[in-house]
Amino acid sequence: MKDKKRNGPLSKIKNFMNHSGKGAGFEIIIEEKSITSIKTKKPPCEETGYHVHEHGEIPDENLTIYISIETITRIKKHALEDTNRELGGMLVGELNEYDGEKYINIITSIPARHTNQSGSSVTFTHQTWEEVFRTMDNDYRDEMIVGWYHTHPNFGIFLSGDDLFIHKNFFNQEWLVALVVDPVRNHSGFFNWKNGEIIRTSGYYSYMKME
Ligand SMILES: [Zn+2]
Repeated sequence: MKDKKRNGPLSKIKNFMNHSGKGAGFEIIIEEKSITSIKTKKPPCEETGYHVHEHGEIPDENLTIYISIETITRIKKHALEDTNRELGGMLVGELNEYDGEKYINIITSIPARHTNQSGSSVTFTHQTWEEVFRTMDNDYRDEMIVGWYHTHPNFGIFLSGDDLFIHKNFFNQEWLVALVVDPVRNHSGFFNWKNGEIIRTSGYYSYMKME
């Protein structure tokens, strides 16, 4: 199994300077051949043995998001580690299809260590990405990166110009999402693609597997 390809489109990330020159950003090189295999799988709300909770209004027309309670807890814990600066990381899971509808299931997250603090946005260093991909290779070979998250301590839920730059350039597949968490005001929100625009989603599902 040594040669097994990572099951996802994000294969490599390199450091680069972003256009504004404000700091290091990152570049994701998409490996054409490994473009996501979509699995046909029942979502947690159709499965037995899951406790599913609806947050807000689930949108009909765009991608449905499921996130495990464990992941929410994990991200909240990370977000509270330092509320004086922005922290971030990756959302890891699956892109699935059921009944003609695509959805993502966020199974876990990888906190990004070694981030740079540069003004209003979180930037991930080369070292961060190496660690993320090492973790993907070691622990999540059947999952893939389905988005990213970062914190806005006490300044609310939105995507800044820098955040939009990151999402448009490096998370430009229609199913890749952004999660913004404000650990001080205790708010959070998902953003995803709809008709080529990045919009805040009106709702999502969290779930817990009952053993
Ligand atoms: Zn931001």
